[in-house]
Order: sequence, then C-alpha cells, then structure tokens
Amino acid sequence: MIDFHCHIDLFPNPREVVAECVRRKLYVLSVTTTPSAWDGTAALADGAPRIRTALGLHPQLAHERKRELDLFDRVLPQTRYVGEVGLDGSPELKPHCSAQVDVFDHILAACASVGGRVLSIHSRRAATAVLDRLERFPGAGTFVLHWFSGNHRELGRAIELGCWFSVGPAMLAGERGRILASKMPRDQILTETDGPFARVNDLAFRPWEVESAIESLGNIWSVASNETSAVLKANLGRLASDA
Ligand code: MN
Repeated sequence: MIDFHCHIDLFPNPREVVAECVRRKLYVLSVTTTPSAWDGTAALADGAPRIRTALGLHPQLAHERKRELDLFDRVLPQTRYVGEVGLDGSPELKPHCSAQVDVFDHILAACASVGGRVLSIHSRRAATAVLDRLERFPGAGTFVLHWFSGNHRELGRAIELGCWFSVGPAMLAGERGRILASKMPRDQILTETDGPFARVNDLAFRPWEVESAIESLGNIWSVASNETSAVLKANLGRLASDA
C-alpha cells in the first residue's frame, strides 16, 4: 500500500505510526509543513526504507514562514521530494495571496535549479493559480496534485501539463471527488491519506487506512483490488525512478 501524502510528524505518536508503517511494509511520503520541521521529520524515517521525507512550506503558513526559504534552499539538495507546497485560495488567506505566490515561485525555481524534484502540491480553491505557476516552471520536476478539487476544465489542463494525482479516502467519499478521480489518467495516480488533517467521524486517517482509497479506486475502475494495487505500485515505481 502507498500513502503518498501524510503528515507523520503531526500525529501525537509519530514513532508508533512509523513503526506500524514499517510493520505493514507501507510506502509513505512523509510531507512537512515548514523547512524547520525537516530535521526531526527526516529522523523519524531512519531505519524505515519505504518512508521518504519531503521538504515543504505549506501555503497556509507561507506568510509566517517566508524567512525559512533560506533553510529550504540549504536542505533541498538532501531530498528528491518536496511537499507540502502550493497555493490555497480560501477566503481567510486572501490577504496573504501574494506571499503565497512568492514562496511557491521561489520553491519552483529552486527545484528547477537543482534539476527537478517530485512535488506534492496543495491547490485548494486555487487550481487555476497553481497551474499558472507550474506552467512557468516546467523544469521544476514532476508535479503530484494532492486531493485535487478543481473543476473539469482545470483537471483537463493539469492532465495536459503532465501532472500526477494523489487521491485519498476523504476525497473519494464524495461523488464529486469520485468523478474527478475517474477522469484522471490511471497511470498517473497514487493513493494518500493526508492524515492527520483528513478525518472521518472525527478520527484522523492513519497511513494504513489508505486501504479504503484503494477499494474506491477499484470500484471506479471496475477492477479487482489486487489489480488496483498492482497499478498503483507500478505507478510509484515509475515516479520514483524519475525522481
Ligand atoms: Mn496535507
């Protein structure tokens, strides 16, 4: 199983979560929300060969943590994965819109300057704005749009740009999310949980609970669950070999 977007460091018991991921042989992209979280979060994955740590600066924190971009640039050579990064167009963040774009552009340019990275990208209420930025930095690497919630035109544009997608149980619980997922290219999809932010019945999704997203995708594709898992694993193999 694959959880390609999970905030392991934000669970109350991150070491136990890591140990369970190791026990279950889960592949995990452990994303961070600030560059200063990198060291501690990367250390959590010591001895966990299927967990990769991503260097991030979350758009909701961009205006407060802009000064950490220097640290971002210093750490970037240590990892092939970047996230969580992107833009968030929620009304309460409107005053910080230009700081978000400055931070995201800086990150995309930095990724391009080191030869490209695999990026896990947040685009809530900002799909068009995110795609505008990605178009400007084609050398930044491979883009994985996490929990994509744009409209169909935006989805078409993302596919044309060669974007990948990571979809989770929360997204696939709704019909709108399932319709979007059904239109995503099967060879460019991965599963995620976005735990502990994504929740069901007030319980945070843990990485192994990505299983229900695999079931949902199998239903959408009308294939058996072992075939769904095989497709996802092949996708991860291709993405990681590009990274
Ligand atoms: Mn997230």
